Amino acid sequence: MKEQLLEMEKYAAEHNVPIIEKDSIVYIMKYIKANNIKNILEIGSAIGYSSILMAGVSNDIKVTTIERDETRYMECLKNIKKCDMDKRINVVFQDALEVNLSGVSYDLIFIDAAKGQNINFFEKYKYFLAKNGAIITDNLKFHGYVGHSEEIESKNLKSLVSKIEDYITFLKNNDEFTTEFVNVGDGLGISIRKDEK
Ligand code: SAH
Ligand code: MG
Repeated sequence: MKEQLLEMEKYAAEHNVPIIEKDSIVYIMKYIKANNIKNILEIGSAIGYSSILMAGVSNDIKVTTIERDETRYMECLKNIKKCDMDKRINVVFQDALEVNLSGVSYDLIFIDAAKGQNINFFEKYKYFLAKNGAIITDNLKFHGYVGHSEEIESKNLKSLVSKIEDYITFLKNNDEFTTEFVNVGDGLGISIRKDEK
């Protein structure tokens, strides 16, 4: 397992796959343990790194993870199989904005896909959050660019970063959810329903 993880880290570095930072996944794993989380939905599997680590917290954890890129999806399946987690991690090969979930709910929804779509992911998937569940979003700092979008020259990067800034505003002004912004790794947001505080 340790070896598989190292291999995945190496693959990610070589193929420019943006897997989660160490500090962030350690934080999330502690959160999973402390809150007795059993059922996880992840938007953005990439090669399975974060889903394998989250499922690894305890043997009775189940993860559903969604990935739209075929190469990464195939790599993800391979890694999950190697870690012997194919019974507990279900990988859905589809655009997360087109997936139809029905009659399920999750204790944790981890949003870690296209950063410009965060509001859409949040609005779509909040209905699948179990009572007392949490929505965690990764990369809210976006390598330190967030909060400085006016200074960015590249049009694409500027637009992406300003969408993350809009998402942060959306979370801060949200009527239903309270968000704690955690300054770990590339920045996490932990959103829970207000009436459950
Ligand atoms: N959670 C992973 C990293 C995910 S990187 C980890 O930390 O190990 C983000 C992934 O989201 C990319 O592989 C990208 O292909 C995928 N993605 C982006 N937008 C998506 C969408 N709308 N639906 C499904 N997957 C998406
Ligand atoms: Mg991420």
